Amino acid sequence: MTAAEIYKTLGVSEEVLAYGENILETLAPRFAEIDARAEINQAKVLAAMQKNRVNATHFAASTGYGYDDEGRDNLERVYADAFHTEAALVRPQITCGTHALAVALSANLLPGDELLAVSGRPYDTLEEVIGIRPSPCSLAEYGVSYRQVELLDDGSFDLPAIRAAISEKTKLIHIQRSKGYQPRPTLSVAQIGEAIAVCRAVKPDVIVMVDNCYGEFVETLEPSDVGADMIVGSLIKNPGGGLAPIGGYIAGTQRCVDRCAYRLSAPGLGQEVGANLGLMPALYQGFFLAPNVVSGAVKGAVFTAAVYESLGFHVVPSSREERHDIIQCVELKSPAGMLAFCKGIQAAAPVDSYVDPVPGDMPGYDAQVVMAAGAFVQGSSIELSADGPIRPPYAVYYQGGLTWYHAKLGVLLSLQKMLDAGLVTLP
Ligand SMILES: *Cc1c(COP(=O)(O)O)cnc(C)c1O
Repeated sequence: MTAAEIYKTLGVSEEVLAYGENILETLAPRFAEIDARAEINQAKVLAAMQKNRVNATHFAASTGYGYDDEGRDNLERVYADAFHTEAALVRPQITCGTHALAVALSANLLPGDELLAVSGRPYDTLEEVIGIRPSPCSLAEYGVSYRQVELLDDGSFDLPAIRAAISEKTKLIHIQRSKGYQPRPTLSVAQIGEAIAVCRAVKPDVIVMVDNCYGEFVETLEPSDVGADMIVGSLIKNPGGGLAPIGGYIAGTQRCVDRCAYRLSAPGLGQEVGANLGLMPALYQGFFLAPNVVSGAVKGAVFTAAVYESLGFHVVPSSREERHDIIQCVELKSPAGMLAFCKGIQAAAPVDSYVDPVPGDMPGYDAQVVMAAGAFVQGSSIELSADGPIRPPYAVYYQGGLTWYHAKLGVLLSLQKMLDAGLVTLP
């Protein structure tokens, strides 16, 4: 069977396939760069696994308190070594990225301390954690104050304003690497390193925490390589490699991670408790696969950018820009465009491919949201997915893809649906 034939059975016309293949030819140098990074990151993970002598005993399940869980403890050493930190907390008991961030913040901030966000408004769900939007059990309720320094118009750090904002009270600096669902550029690890150096120059003992969600393994350095005290993320995004069914991580200095462990479980217990419930094979193997999975997701994002910018749509980042996360924003100009795009992504899925995405209300949003995802793990956004609020500029955020070929099919089918709906014409 030829590629054209199998793509046809999946719903991609010869015209769309040919259009995609032409664009792909122009991306060969980009893809080679992405492969080169994946190779380095794969070696980094392998070195950490070999150094810690990973073996079959580490895959055993533990239950109850989870005392002496060597598999769990060793996985944490593997994460710490791969991210070049003193320690790491990697747990299924961390329910999601927001939870990991909430633990890292609340463990390291005490009443009277100030939290300073220097990359502008943090991710939506952190507004309640911090108390920007009043919420029970927020940091604000516990007497932690909050300040924010906006990014400059070009999306870079406002270093003079950061310098000026750090005060005696400033205990912890928050930096968000990925744009998340904001129309700003993602910060590079090098930029983050510069900002950390400025913070340290003003206040050597300030704690710097980087929200690393969607950023892991996109570059060959992580924020922990450029001075961050803690990097924090979700295992149903990049580092779980698509296999982790749940979990989050915090990697950083021993001092910070110890406090996080006491906050996550209980003072006095810390990292000693927390059964792995049989999840170790998925967490180890997912981390092993993650560099390659992330490279496929990045290729999908670059391909999306190239296809849609060639048709006159505004995309962030462009297909030529350096990548610092796996998120691709495409402004589709109309609700119909968003819907067609999402239908294509959904139709490409291994799970729920027959489902039709329809816009719906979502808590916390002032507009209806349309989402496409057919994932093995609920809500996993390292799996191929797309979503966005139905309001101008009608931007869809595309991310993930456990394999490059699946991401490619998703992009081709999105284009097919746009074409079928008369929303684009191929030149
Ligand atoms: C996804 C994400 C979070 C929150 O993670 P959840 O797992 O959805 O709770 C926080 N920050 C950024 C930048 C994210 O992308």
